[in-house]
Amino acid sequence: MQSLQTRIDSFQKTKRVKRYPSKSSSSTASVKWPHPPDFKANATTLAEAGFYFSPSWDDRDSVACFLCGKELSDWDSNDDPFEIHYTKCQNSCAWAVVRCGLIEDLDSKGRFVFENKKRLPSSKAMEKARLETFGKIWWPHDGEPGHGATTSIKMARAGFVYTPQAAEDDTVTCLYCNLSLGGWETEDDPVQEHRRRDSKSGATCPFLAFSEQQSEDVSTAVHIADPPPPRAKRGKARATTSTAVVQAPAQD
Ligand SMILES: [Zn+2]
Ligand SMILES: [Zn+2]
Repeated sequence: MQSLQTRIDSFQKTKRVKRYPSKSSSSTASVKWPHPPDFKANATTLAEAGFYFSPSWDDRDSVACFLCGKELSDWDSNDDPFEIHYTKCQNSCAWAVVRCGLIEDLDSKGRFVFENKKRLPSSKAMEKARLETFGKIWWPHDGEPGHGATTSIKMARAGFVYTPQAAEDDTVTCLYCNLSLGGWETEDDPVQEHRRRDSKSGATCPFLAFSEQQSEDVSTAVHIADPPPPRAKRGKARATTSTAVVQAPAQD
């Protein structure tokens, strides 16, 4: 369930759950995601916030986080999955920190201002949270001979989190500028790749801006035009797009 598309797909499928109390006719029942798409919590927002559909007979709208396992149910139309995941799990879930916590980093105009200095992209706490998104065994290049430059530690240090489109895929994303890159080769340097794409795009990535600026002047807002548009991945590898619109084969 590390793949966003797999999480989105989980909401389209009917799940078999154990009936309780069990009836003689059938011990299981089919359950579908019960809420309309205009709920704040829908397949897309829940999946982006880290959740997949995980219902039970008693909790028909239960979802679970792919990283911390947190289960939530009883969704109302205005419940915001990002806000709730961040509020409940910011001390225990790296996805809540790196993805859902972005709401705390923005001002009312959608600019990254990082009022909470612990959440500066260059802080050790954020780097650690980014690293945790790679899991213990998920990242395919850890411990791979010759891939010393593309370990999960180097990726996290370069501002990336793990956003595979399928199992064992090596797509990473900078959540500050929405740059997604995959197809890493042994000689690639993640910091250089991030910078190179950034200079081409014309807009400054807040991660790069704040890393270079260090932490003394945190009041400067780095303007990002609305939500940044999806940006293409490196041409030499698979050519697809950012985390928001990934198309992936349905597998865990
Ligand atoms: Zn979580
Ligand atoms: Zn970036």
